[in-house]
Amino acid sequence: MLCCCWVPLPCHCTYKISVSTFPSKIHKTTAFMDAGGSDSNGREYKTADEMWKEQTGDPNKKTLWYRQGVSYWEGVNATVDGVLGGYADVNEPDITCSDDFLKIILSERFNADAKTQPLVALDCGSGIGRVTKNLLIRHFNEVDLLEPVSHFLEAARETLTSGEYTNSDMHKAVNFYCVPLQDFTPDVGRYDVIWIQWCIGHLTDDDFITFFKRAKVGLKPGGLFVLKENIARSGFVLDNEDRSVTRSDPYFRELFSRCGLHVYKSKDQKGFPQDLFAVKMYALTTEAPKKTHRTRSKTQSNRPRTIVY
Ligand code: SAH
Repeated sequence: MLCCCWVPLPCHCTYKISVSTFPSKIHKTTAFMDAGGSDSNGREYKTADEMWKEQTGDPNKKTLWYRQGVSYWEGVNATVDGVLGGYADVNEPDITCSDDFLKIILSERFNADAKTQPLVALDCGSGIGRVTKNLLIRHFNEVDLLEPVSHFLEAARETLTSGEYTNSDMHKAVNFYCVPLQDFTPDVGRYDVIWIQWCIGHLTDDDFITFFKRAKVGLKPGGLFVLKENIARSGFVLDNEDRSVTRSDPYFRELFSRCGLHVYKSKDQKGFPQDLFAVKMYALTTEAPKKTHRTRSKTQSNRPRTIVY
């Protein structure tokens, strides 16, 4: 069942890659964007370019690609099981892991301002508002939702405005945008965090890049993106049914660099069934990480320490 691509496409990957193994940027461009991939019917593609050209190479094909993506989700029930491809059980470990990741980011980057300025998040491809309801609304004063499938967005609106989850004026869902990512431009400087989970695979590489470039204006100074996605073992996997692509970690990192984004922090999802795609979270900033000049004291540098492999 291909809705599974969002979480569970069977894939025997316990994918791990050490950052230090990444080749140079020029090498990356050649090696990763040109890495081959396959589709859900087992067809092989020599390069991502070949696949994109075939699937979205002219305006009609591209329109069809996006229309079929949305149509797919229009046929899915507005339930947690629906948006998780029949794997409702992953909801809990997903939220727990995201919570840990978000808490660290918030404490590192927003602590000082939190009391004086309301924290605002955008939940992209929000579906029925699962991530907002279980995670974002607890940490942010205002959350906006963006979702192209109207019966999902209406379900989110119903849940989030019923009072049960937003019973305080301090934590509320504010705007509900029924728009796809490729057509969205946020209000300037509104968001501390733009959260994008399990939906970026619907965007072509070109639209991925233009979306992030446009969306940067929506961040407050110091704000960041969090992208949480399935990760292919290598290259990419095209899902013919819902019109989405699962990219590898090097593929994502190449796209981030083309967007002018820097990986501030990343973390692997833990506790999912083994037969699912690996899942990773990336916190992305527009500013380059500060270079730390380490000046270790003599006592520190001579201290015995454990070697970590
Ligand atoms: N992020 C939610 C929903 C995941 S399901 C969650 O984790 O619970 C994937 C979602 O992506 C669906 O709601 C689907 O409608 C949405 N989607 C599909 N195409 C999209 C597009 N072009 N832009 C934004 N969202 C899209």
